[in-house]
Amino acid sequence: MTRVAVIGGGIGGLTAAQELAERNIAVEVYEASDRFGGKARSYPVAQHGPLHGEHGFRFFPAFYRHVVETMERIPTAEGTVADNLVVTEETLVASTDQPAQRARTGQPESVREWMQTLRPAFIDDLPPEDRAFLLERFLYILTACDQRREHELDNVSWWEFIDADNRSEALRERLASATQALVALRPRLASARTMGVIYLQLLFGQMDPTRPAERILNGPTSEVWIRPWVEYLDSLDVELHASTPVERLLFDGRRITGAERTDGNRIEADEFVLAVPVHVAPSFVTPEIARAASELEGIERLDTAWMNGVQFYLSTDISLTRGHQVYTDSPWALTSISQRQFWSGHDFETTAPDDVEGVLSVIASDWETPGIVYGIPARACTRAEIATEVWEQLKAHLNATEDVLTDDVLVEWFLDPAIVETNDGVENRSPLLINTVGSLKHRPSAETSIENLTIAGDFVRTNSDLASMESANEAGRRAANAILRRHQPTTQAATIWELAEPAVFEPFRRHDRLQYRLGLPHPGEVTQSARSFVNRLGVRG
Ligand SMILES: Cc1cc2nc3c(=O)[nH]c(=O)nc-3n(C[C@H](O)[C@H](O)[C@H](O)COP(=O)(O)OP(=O)(O)OC[C@H]3O[C@@H](n4cnc5c(N)ncnc54)[C@H](O)[C@@H]3O)c2cc1C
Repeated sequence: MTRVAVIGGGIGGLTAAQELAERNIAVEVYEASDRFGGKARSYPVAQHGPLHGEHGFRFFPAFYRHVVETMERIPTAEGTVADNLVVTEETLVASTDQPAQRARTGQPESVREWMQTLRPAFIDDLPPEDRAFLLERFLYILTACDQRREHELDNVSWWEFIDADNRSEALRERLASATQALVALRPRLASARTMGVIYLQLLFGQMDPTRPAERILNGPTSEVWIRPWVEYLDSLDVELHASTPVERLLFDGRRITGAERTDGNRIEADEFVLAVPVHVAPSFVTPEIARAASELEGIERLDTAWMNGVQFYLSTDISLTRGHQVYTDSPWALTSISQRQFWSGHDFETTAPDDVEGVLSVIASDWETPGIVYGIPARACTRAEIATEVWEQLKAHLNATEDVLTDDVLVEWFLDPAIVETNDGVENRSPLLINTVGSLKHRPSAETSIENLTIAGDFVRTNSDLASMESANEAGRRAANAILRRHQPTTQAATIWELAEPAVFEPFRRHDRLQYRLGLPHPGEVTQSARSFVNRLGVRG
């Protein structure tokens, strides 16, 4: 029987384990921490008994297919883990000087609702020339062939592509900040390819009547997803070793002959799946391994940024909106979810301490910009200062017109334990991969040039190319498929889905494929250069 060792028990590693174990392959998973789930797991908050903390809340937009299908195969007492996904209804867009706005996240059901959905994306506040420009940019992405997206659009930043410096504040706000709030994409750093494609996927998701635009979990992640997952893997005879960090891979110049645990014990297997985070993976790529699989050298050129959460436990449940909150003027790029209203799968009443009635889970995505209380970036603060600063930024938004969040309701806070204090601020033990211009070429495929080594993590090249649970899951499937091809070629492979795009643009993309092969520019580029020319003459248009 083929034996597979999976190193790392996050979403990528557990997905690979499930796909293989369901096909009767013997799998062992080695996880460094005492809990499985990686960045997606939640933690019991030690000083407050059964309260839960987390790296940050989880969001599942409509275009996620891989991770949701995996959840549909994990049984629970009542059904499957996918039943624990609940649909959001609206996003609260809060600012410090204007009344908050509410944007629907549900599907439009009438022509009026369709208009309401489309207006904020294309019409409201935008000067007419920006509306036309915006449409043109989206059409460019939709009609560009894959090769052009990969070799041209991946090498230009989204900021440049949308000509953000020369456009209205409203367009910058719409196209630049909106995505940073919910997905780990930085408009100035991310490529036009990834940011454009993901932005459109989020937009299509809002218009697709067959699937909810976005969902979140109905309880703490480890409780409603990771624990049933681990139990399911256990039932498939997967051997799960928590608190077992692996030090290195042993390589004989041709294949991986074993792996060495930090405690000195050796792991024997026929196949090895490396499913550790992007900042850990390079330590496994020795010069000998890099010589045999040069595609792995690119991993250390991939960039990470900080995106970490803090939870505020409140004496009153302040539900805000049934969805996300986005804090547009917060220097630390805050987003939140008021969780209690969604937690039907979690017995909050009997498990939470008597003085806690609500949980506001917040993610900070900008750790470089000075805050409003101490005037320094989050990186330079202590843990307590971070919590205070985040709380004050929330208050500045939520209390813009009336007092919604007040100090007297705050019982306790919990900051991601990956944020560790040092002499000059904090360090982050769990940075997150971010997409940067030109990074696609550094992302390895799940199948490597070493005959028994595969990679399963969110930094692997996947269809969505986004640091997410969806990408990690797709990577796990791809790693499992590579192993199946070698050892059970007749077994049905795990399904991999392309990102769905409107069929109406396919003829244009086919045409662009031809143009690209002939070395000709995309028609959109012509208008773009005409505009630059006009701009150089000092005329805005
Ligand atoms: C605050 C925050 C919010 C997020 N929100 C979302 C969201 O809403 N939706 C979404 O899709 N994605 C979200 N993400 C991204 C998503 O969580 C990650 O992209 C995904 O979970 C990565 O999974 P992974 O398996 O690739 O890696 P990881 O989760 O990093 O798992 C790798 C595992 O390897 C283990 N490991 C490390 N070193 C070793 C070693 N030497 N030996 C053995 N094991 C080792 C680690 O302990 C870890 O468990 C968020 C991320 C953050 C930080």
